[in-house]
Amino acid sequence: MEINNFIKTIMEEDLKNGKVNEIITRFPPEPNAYLHIGHARAIITNFELADSFDGKTNLRFDDTNPVKEDQEFVDGIINDLAWLGYRPENIFYGSDYFEKTYEKAILLIKKGLAYVDDLNQEEISKYRGTLNEPGVNSPYRDRSVEENLKLFEEMKEGKYADGEKTLRAKIDMAHPNINMRDPVMYRIIHTTHHRQKDKWCIYPMYDFAHPLQDSFEGITHSLCSLEYDNHRILYDWVIDNTEVEHHPHQYEFGRLNITNTIMSKRYLRALVDAKKVSGYDDPRMPTLCGLRRRGYTPNAIKSFILGTGLSRVNSTVPEEELEEALRNDLKMSALRPNAVIDPVKVIIDNYPDDVIEYLDCPNNAENDELGAKKISFSKEVYIERDDFILEKPNKKWKRLALGVEVRLMYAYFIKANSVEYDDNGNIIIIHATYDPKTKSGTGFDERKPNGNIHFVNAKDAIPAEFRLFEPLMKETEENKDLDFMEKLNPNSLEIKEGYVEANLKDTKELDHFQFIRNGYFVTDKDSTKDKLVFNRTCSLKSSFKL
Ligand code: ATP
Ligand code: MG
Repeated sequence: MEINNFIKTIMEEDLKNGKVNEIITRFPPEPNAYLHIGHARAIITNFELADSFDGKTNLRFDDTNPVKEDQEFVDGIINDLAWLGYRPENIFYGSDYFEKTYEKAILLIKKGLAYVDDLNQEEISKYRGTLNEPGVNSPYRDRSVEENLKLFEEMKEGKYADGEKTLRAKIDMAHPNINMRDPVMYRIIHTTHHRQKDKWCIYPMYDFAHPLQDSFEGITHSLCSLEYDNHRILYDWVIDNTEVEHHPHQYEFGRLNITNTIMSKRYLRALVDAKKVSGYDDPRMPTLCGLRRRGYTPNAIKSFILGTGLSRVNSTVPEEELEEALRNDLKMSALRPNAVIDPVKVIIDNYPDDVIEYLDCPNNAENDELGAKKISFSKEVYIERDDFILEKPNKKWKRLALGVEVRLMYAYFIKANSVEYDDNGNIIIIHATYDPKTKSGTGFDERKPNGNIHFVNAKDAIPAEFRLFEPLMKETEENKDLDFMEKLNPNSLEIKEGYVEANLKDTKELDHFQFIRNGYFVTDKDSTKDKLVFNRTCSLKSSFKL
């Protein structure tokens, strides 16, 4: 799928008019959390747009707030980007520009366009005014250039405590856009930075640092989500007043929301901290590492994102569209082994005791190119408990029942004759007989079975745990006004036991499968030699009308 949207049109025009010679974009995450599926929209938009013009995209860590940032997140973000298949032209850090950014602040002071303010945060907010009322000038607004230079130098040297002073742009306290009412450009933070360590105790604000970084890197189109719309005027002010050589431009696009999915970092962090999930890569998390572990593929994520389109409006997309993208990606390419979830044993009384047969079976019944394999069969097999009922209830029951004959897929017809119970009254063994004439592949057509069910050979099947998921959060009419922690779905994880066919003995983490009749699954890193673990990515069909 090719990217096509309003920003692409702008880029085409800019190239045609000679406004730019090439397209250079950047993806600028703050390394304070793992990336989520919403970030995938920003990543894919930036990389695909630049790629479509043979342009370049930088990864730039927006690490100008030392309080929340961490190397763990830097590594996670680099890894997620590579997994999605994107290679940044450069990896830059906003903090590497601190010196140049500082020089631009000095320049603004010298031009009379910035001043050191003694008001604290609360006072600054109070003086700022509202949408209907102009703000009030700070009493420190008219300090001389010399005094401002001296105070700013002292801020940098660590003479003042956090919050004691700020550097503010001197623009217009009555400006109709509140972001232009003398925005703070630098604040004091005495916290060790993950890269700069204790070199700095003044840190530039996003609105000052970001346009400068874009300019230093020669970014032509600086793409961001819609909430920065009313910061664009300040972005341009910074560019226009700092005597930079290169003038980048900001364009906004709508944020991506997905039903039953909260994507803000604050939420993801709260879930991890409260141990509601096993970590950022819990398969229920909308993080890229969680989706990967859940079994989503880069292709599925890309086609999902491109399929949502891009406009200047925030959009909410049904979660089922992501599942559909995965099915489309894996339907023809995934192997389709047998897995029996919640098993019950079938003993085929008329089958010889010590024989194991190896029967032919396609790897993917819809795609011959994936070839064939052998599946084993013997006197004892497992089928799913749900595939058996004592008495056939109606015509629609196309599975096994007493006195009823079904086909074990790619093997034989079997008929159930009796059952054995454990002390609690649960069926533990079904006794059956098979008909040797009905062997699969022989063209037997004298009678029709009451359905086709899958099985695994009890003699060599591998024990497995299956993790089945529902959304972490479920929004209903009743809970829609509650805090998200109270919307958590108590059934978001269900663990089931069972077996997979012996062919899966060498499966590795992140192998994708379609388990026959059960859905798409992926091998989890918790797998051991004795017990495999699989996550269900999604079911075979959507219950939802797309
Ligand atoms: P959050 O709101 O989850 O904390 P953020 O926007 O603060 O995310 P950043 O690390 O600043 O996170 O994001 C990097 C880029 O990803 C930004 O350009 C941001 O606009 C974009 N982005 C984040 N979430 C979404 C989303 N849901 N849809 C589209 N773009 C997004
Ligand atoms: Mg942000």
